[in-house]
Amino acid sequence: MKIRLGPDGVHLFDRQTGLNVLLDEVQPAERSWSAAPRQVSIAVTNACNLACSYCYAPKHRAALEKSQLLRWIDELDEAGALGIGFGGGEPTLYRHLPEVCAHAASNTDLAVTMTTHGLRWNADLISRLRGTVNFVRVSVDGVGSTYERLRGRSFTQLRAALEAIAGTFRWGMNTVINEDTVGDLDAIVAVAAEHGASELLLLPEQRTASTAGASKGTLRVLQNWVSAYTGPVRLAASAEAELGVPTADALPRETGLRSYAHIDASGTARTSSYAPSGIRVGDSVIAAFEQLARMEAA
Ligand code: SF4
Repeated sequence: MKIRLGPDGVHLFDRQTGLNVLLDEVQPAERSWSAAPRQVSIAVTNACNLACSYCYAPKHRAALEKSQLLRWIDELDEAGALGIGFGGGEPTLYRHLPEVCAHAASNTDLAVTMTTHGLRWNADLISRLRGTVNFVRVSVDGVGSTYERLRGRSFTQLRAALEAIAGTFRWGMNTVINEDTVGDLDAIVAVAAEHGASELLLLPEQRTASTAGASKGTLRVLQNWVSAYTGPVRLAASAEAELGVPTADALPRETGLRSYAHIDASGTARTSSYAPSGIRVGDSVIAAFEQLARMEAA
């Protein structure tokens, strides 16, 4: 198991099973806390072959340089990060993805996760990623005609992809909650359960420069649905989600950049993928996060 020291204690993590153990009787000295964020999301490319209206990914062409990305991954591992999550854009359009995942699997103890629309996971890609990705997050916004209207792709095609992914990887479903999808929540859970998802991550649509975000009425419907939920798939929510129910926070003192950071496809470190500004990462990703922390504190 990987060991991470932080303000909440000694954190043990097994990337194969996702098991977390926190020894909170132990209080490591601050100088020994792991320097890296616990989890880092990395947008490897801005490219995507879909055009969802609520997409907030940058639209200019950008992709990370492979050798630099591999160095950052090694540094994050050595500095105590527990996981990296590849996204985009659509990460499967990044041509170095299999090599990068293989490097992380064999040279580090990091858990590798991936957020994907799932539609490119054919037998060839699955065989190239097998054994190197610990958890796949598939974005499924609505079912049937809702999905097809929002994503412009066949729901039958998605179902086939879910079947293929579930046959090889542990996986969870990500759902953006907005006026279009909130009425599909029961059906979304049914599809997730049918394909063996271990988690449904609820992501209320965020307001961006081009989208209004989920309305108050939609958020109220979501809160009521969550309060009454007794379904078979575990629910999780984004940090920004206000679900109106108590949520567990096992690491309450590991906040901000100690907990999470994002690197965009242009190589800029940010506090989140929505953050308006950031710090360009050079040779050292940890140095960039430290500079970002000072900028945030100023
Ligand atoms: S699949 Fe994701 S990255 Fe692609 S357009 Fe839709 S929201 Fe954006």
